[in-house]
Amino acid sequence: MQRIILDGILGLCVGDALGVPFEFTPREDLKKDTVTKMGSHGTYNQPLGTWSDDTSMSLCLVDSLSQGLNYFDIMKKFLDWYTEGEYTSHGEVFDIGAATKKAILRFSEGVHPLSCGGSQELDNGNGSLMRILPILFYLRTHYGDALKKNDEVYTIIHNVSRLTHAHPRTLIACGIYLNIAALIAQNLNMEEAVHTGVQHAFDYYSQRKEYEPELHHFARLNDLSFKDIPETEIHSTGYVVHTLEASIWSLLNSNNYKDAVLKAVNLGNDTDTIATVAGGLAGLHYGADNIPKEWLDNIVRKDYIIELCNQLEKSLDQ
Ligand SMILES: [Mg+2]
Repeated sequence: MQRIILDGILGLCVGDALGVPFEFTPREDLKKDTVTKMGSHGTYNQPLGTWSDDTSMSLCLVDSLSQGLNYFDIMKKFLDWYTEGEYTSHGEVFDIGAATKKAILRFSEGVHPLSCGGSQELDNGNGSLMRILPILFYLRTHYGDALKKNDEVYTIIHNVSRLTHAHPRTLIACGIYLNIAALIAQNLNMEEAVHTGVQHAFDYYSQRKEYEPELHHFARLNDLSFKDIPETEIHSTGYVVHTLEASIWSLLNSNNYKDAVLKAVNLGNDTDTIATVAGGLAGLHYGADNIPKEWLDNIVRKDYIIELCNQLEKSLDQ
């Protein structure tokens, strides 16, 4: 049986851990000193196999969803992560995005979870895209394989993002990403999943006036020749559109897990999140078995992560 929860979560976690030592490293530096293996220390001085906020917040969602969909509970787990170091590699938070921090603090002051995320133009960082993948597993169980044009499905995706990031552009980014993920989970090949997934998302958002004006930001992804855009025109910042493009581009220009995440990391800058976003889909596509064993073995608290995945798998099977 295909273990898609494990495939996706280990995929994103290993990508995260691979990128952590190199976050904020400029691409020019990585051109001279290319990342070829999992490293340690670097930006946050963390030991080998340490994963960051991207994985922690994804694990909050994995854990919460095993009890059903409850936005208060997800937010409570984000708060536990931020204040207590729950769901972390070593019991402490060493990396948190500004918008995420603001949203969690709002929740701690009693704001409703769905009103916590910022919705200004500047709130379009990649902080919800990096942790959105686990909702796919819940949606597949409750709504079937493809996301199609189901309003309820999109509302759930948007709400999960909205906990920390509520701008329509970010909601679209999450919608596009999950459409692609859903098709990969149905065993479409990578190129087909990307083109069809983006097309499905465009079909949905172009019909809705609150999203349509934002769609042009994703035009490059909707172009069949996106894969052939030169690397110099692929930006690897924490802006949600850049992160989505950079991760999809890395996936389209590689044909195994290892090369996909190494390509993502070597783009530089927001290395951990771009490798997380690429790694989740690469894990789904190639399977956890395709992740280099020595990388998996290095992952801090690997058994704990597997246990959380198994718990969600069991609850969704019931
Ligand atoms: Mg991070």
